[in-house]
Amino acid sequence: MRILVIEDERKVASFIKRGLEEERYIVETAADGEAGLELALHNHFDAIVLDVMLPKLDGFSVLSTLRDSGATTPVIMLTARGTTDDRVQGLDLGADDYLTKPFHFEELAARLRSILRRSSSEKTTKLSCGNITLDMVTHFAYRDDVEIELTTKEYALLEYMMRNKDRILSRSMITQQVWKHSFDPESNIIDVYIKRLRTKLERPGQPPLIQSIRGVGYRLRDMIQDEPEEQSE
Ligand code: CA
Repeated sequence: MRILVIEDERKVASFIKRGLEEERYIVETAADGEAGLELALHNHFDAIVLDVMLPKLDGFSVLSTLRDSGATTPVIMLTARGTTDDRVQGLDLGADDYLTKPFHFEELAARLRSILRRSSSEKTTKLSCGNITLDMVTHFAYRDDVEIELTTKEYALLEYMMRNKDRILSRSMITQQVWKHSFDPESNIIDVYIKRLRTKLERPGQPPLIQSIRGVGYRLRDMIQDEPEEQSE
């Protein structure tokens, strides 16, 4: 799941980002209201953590513009201690929850899980492909109900592939969605991660879950097909 953190205090922003990444969320940050609003309006996020006091555009203005645009993305507002009006104003403008600074990371993580569950109760919070299941709220992966241990990036890659199963994903699509262009798409890091996922997900004697499309990228296959298998690289 993708979370946007709009927070100008560098320390707080990086503390939230680090914590959420450890919990296997994909996190983007913005250091002022304008940049945050821009990101929120033009990208898909599953939730937004929004500070009230922000340079350029305050959190309330970000929230009201966002809601006016029709976006229903769940928002948790970060308010200063003892400012009841801020909390009320935030909720009135359409925030889903608020947290008073300073807060413990665990508290934020719990609130976030709660609003994500709420917002996705009509949608599914699980993805499945063959005997593999991902819980997108807790970020656990299972094979036949047995947990598979995945690192943050392995999880992010698998979630992206499962959201797009049976679709050929080019290396640049994967780079952009999972690594955000933080490395040269020509590097072999994707192959390294695919190999690790294969080791964790595939079982000898079973048809491969991840198919290599030579010169293009990869495809996660849900249906076991009889088409000739391209050799794994
Ligand atoms: Ca602030």
